Amino acid sequence: MERMQSDRDFPAAERVRLMQVSSTMAVLQAAERLRATGVRVLDLGAGEPDFPTPEHIKEAARRALAENFTRYTPAAGIAELRAAIARFLNEHFGSTYAPEHVIVTAGGKQAIFNAIVTLIEPGDEVLIPAPYWVTFPQVVTFAGGRSRFLPTEVNEFRLTAEMVGEAVTPRTKLLILNSPCNPTGRVIPPEEFRRIVEMAVARGVYVLSDECYREFVYPPHIPFSAASLPEAMRERVLIVGSFSKTYAMTGWRIGYAVGPHAWIREMIKVQSHSTSNPTSIAQKAALEALTGPQESVVTMLREYQRRRDFLLEALNALPGIRCAVPEGAFYVFPDVREMMRARGLRTSEELEARLLEECQIALTAGAAFGAEGYVRISYATSLDVLQEAIARLDRFARARA
Ligand code: PLP
Repeated sequence: MERMQSDRDFPAAERVRLMQVSSTMAVLQAAERLRATGVRVLDLGAGEPDFPTPEHIKEAARRALAENFTRYTPAAGIAELRAAIARFLNEHFGSTYAPEHVIVTAGGKQAIFNAIVTLIEPGDEVLIPAPYWVTFPQVVTFAGGRSRFLPTEVNEFRLTAEMVGEAVTPRTKLLILNSPCNPTGRVIPPEEFRRIVEMAVARGVYVLSDECYREFVYPPHIPFSAASLPEAMRERVLIVGSFSKTYAMTGWRIGYAVGPHAWIREMIKVQSHSTSNPTSIAQKAALEALTGPQESVVTMLREYQRRRDFLLEALNALPGIRCAVPEGAFYVFPDVREMMRARGLRTSEELEARLLEECQIALTAGAAFGAEGYVRISYATSLDVLQEAIARLDRFARARA
């Protein structure tokens, strides 16, 4: 019998060898190991709502099961859901999308993956404002492209059209926008968003607008979508959305992309040969989420705002931490450079490890998102946990190196 190949000998393809395991997952795993030993870890690392999926959505899934809606669906998703997604954007943002402009995917993540691999060829450049969500550059690498990061720290994490204009080269094929942003919570104001897309399109660059946190903006801001841009501009824009955060449905794996027919058609081709369709039952649940009562979204948003407001005030009262006001998503991204200095720590990763060890707090180093000197704190957790975390952080911040 042939001997099993050792792990080291496995000839992984280069495009995969170049990819890295998600660093946000690494923190969660370290926290999990600690928790398994009986320690109470405060988890501020999670990128998912702590709320249960609303009851009426779960009921729709139970109904789908009872009706044996358990077979393959079209690769692009069921017709009613594609139509509902197009209608949602058209009604809220004045676009004129048809169901053919929509693909339903296994989470926003699969939409992003399909979008990038259908467009990017070896040697193509992709502009990614930094800090960024960790998956963007990894998928660009997988596609053989090159990520070029646009640092926004100099401008309080606000991207401008000028920054984009200066970074575009003849090789630039795609610009990725993510507003509200993971990890900073920053929202690009609508006028600036339009100027940015105008600039990109004028230079022949496509735009991927990741709107997974679209509904999570705090007053006076209101949800904005690239769907509200003029039609001519949208010929180069792909919108990615997700049910994960808006309806607390991370495990159901339903997202979507809406954009130019040709781009969507190619994405459907990729999907049809990889995962086929997203789960039939989850699609029925997503249809109910989008077309049923929306009160749960309002309730969750109100609670996130309460937590954000608490956290901002409490963090800014701690020595060595400065936290700007994020307009959306459920993260704060404080500047911890002074705290690092005071504790003799050189990198945000060292701080992340120290906080887990000394305070049993799991959060994510800014370096993971391309911004050293910061950490990401998720407030998709109860106010009780946040209050206790602040008490522990306070002790940590007051201790000397
Ligand atoms: N985009 C951003 C910025 C995210 O933070 C996430 C999830 O964390 C996603 C997309 C993908 O979410 P999902 O695949 O659950 O829809």
